[in-house]
Amino acid sequence: MTTFNCLTIFPEMFSGFTGTSLCEKAIVKQLIAVNTVNFRDYTQDKHNRVDDYPFGGGAGMLFMPQPLFDSFDMLAEKYSDRKSRNIYMSPAGKKLTQETAEQLAEYDVLNILCGHYEGVDQRVLDHCIDEEISIGDYVLTGGELPAMVLMDCVMRYVPGVLSNDESVSEESFSGNLLEYPQYTRPSSFRGMDVPEVLLSGHHKNIAAWQREQALLKTLRERPDLLEQAELSDSDRVFLDQLKNQS
Ligand code: SAM
Repeated sequence: MTTFNCLTIFPEMFSGFTGTSLCEKAIVKQLIAVNTVNFRDYTQDKHNRVDDYPFGGGAGMLFMPQPLFDSFDMLAEKYSDRKSRNIYMSPAGKKLTQETAEQLAEYDVLNILCGHYEGVDQRVLDHCIDEEISIGDYVLTGGELPAMVLMDCVMRYVPGVLSNDESVSEESFSGNLLEYPQYTRPSSFRGMDVPEVLLSGHHKNIAAWQREQALLKTLRERPDLLEQAELSDSDRVFLDQLKNQS
């Protein structure tokens, strides 16, 4: 079982996530657990505060070290026999990729710190955190939504969470290609027909079409990915043809 512990002062934000769709099913099947740790419960401040002004001035408030150090100490003790990693969701972190998610799925326990306001005292990051992860080059109000993005992405790699193990390997970014277009019934809708090859039942032709469409989509939308993609000789010939056409 993979256990996610989200350190947050807004635990209520997670109930929609844990009670819906794939996440709910994975929890019910005991493949994953999603817990929240409200670090306000750990503060020694007599007014229950967890944040304070930054030294040196500047806008906003920072989470203080004491409640967070105590929360991480509690988690370290509770999961001492399990392979754990402590993550801080941060716009200043390394950008989340499919590869990162796959690697994080190897851990038994992911403790995910959700910042708020201006962020977190640097001593917490230096002493409690193994890795800072960003979900993109933009700034959100808090780390709760990023934590849910991370958990959603990671849990798809936990064995048994997806019904068909092939699903992850065929999705966008696997092999550094975007996914090919897909269609469902009806085969003709408002004059728009599904590509004939998909109705042919000819598996080899279908696979070749899907590969070409994945290359085409990646070239158009994310040409940067092609530099890292595993390409065959025929892929390269196809891409050269496309480039010469444009
Ligand atoms: N002052 C911080 C900075 O400039 O890097 C931004 C703080 S932001 C308003 C509050 C919290 O939201 C952060 O501590 C972080 O936990 C979370 N957050 C915001 N944007 C994020 C992103 N793109 N990826 C991950 N976490 C993010």
